[in-house]
Amino acid sequence: MSFELLTIHCLSDNYAFLAHDPDTKATLLVDAPEPDPILTKLREKKWDLTHVLITHHHWDHVDGLSKLLEYYSPQIIGSSSDINRLPPLHLSVAENEKIKIGNKVGKVFEVSGHTIGHIAVYFEESNLLFTGDSLMALGCGRLFEGTAGQMWQSLQKLSNLPDETVVCSGHEYTETNANFALTIDPDNQDLIRRCKEIKKLRSDGVPTVPSNLGEERNTNPFLRPWSKNIRVNLDMIDATDDEVFAKIRALKDAY
Ligand code: ZN
Ligand code: FE
Repeated sequence: MSFELLTIHCLSDNYAFLAHDPDTKATLLVDAPEPDPILTKLREKKWDLTHVLITHHHWDHVDGLSKLLEYYSPQIIGSSSDINRLPPLHLSVAENEKIKIGNKVGKVFEVSGHTIGHIAVYFEESNLLFTGDSLMALGCGRLFEGTAGQMWQSLQKLSNLPDETVVCSGHEYTETNANFALTIDPDNQDLIRRCKEIKKLRSDGVPTVPSNLGEERNTNPFLRPWSKNIRVNLDMIDATDDEVFAKIRALKDAY
């Protein structure tokens, strides 16, 4: 059986995820922004927290961990290239390595850009991709440590996964991302339709995360620097994908 996935709203706009393996009862938490909402869900479900994956070192993905450790003894997993800035890890992993949660196997992607040493993990059997602040719904994380070129490399690895992949990202930034996306890709019919859906969801207070990778590929401008329409709008017809991506990221930063 696939993972049972719970999306947990934390702090003002963060998401944490619980992925529970019904076969073995193993339960993975992805990122720990705030302990109480996570503890509430674990207790409600009567799940034992067996694994924690930290996508990157930022406080809003890590600070909830210490209180969770008062109640549970999970294996803590993070990037081997960022061990000095992450909480103490039991398992450090690098690109292409596998992690095992119960009998589910996840593949690690190194997705630097937002930070150096950011990782994403893909569970093929359950169609789940945990991206933290790399690929986000209609967006991507800001470049605090890496370059635009690094982020574009990182996003390309993820964008080759199957259409049906469920993208579990770290923040509810989707409505602002949607408004920005429309400024550079205003004739994209899939984007226009998706933006309407997002506005409706947000006005009803419903999360827009997780999202669908096939839809991201059709609508997320950060996965589409090759798009003719975007290039025409940016007056960058002959630029490289790297250059167009960097321009999109810079325009979003100033938006
Ligand atoms: Zn972050
Ligand atoms: Fe964050």
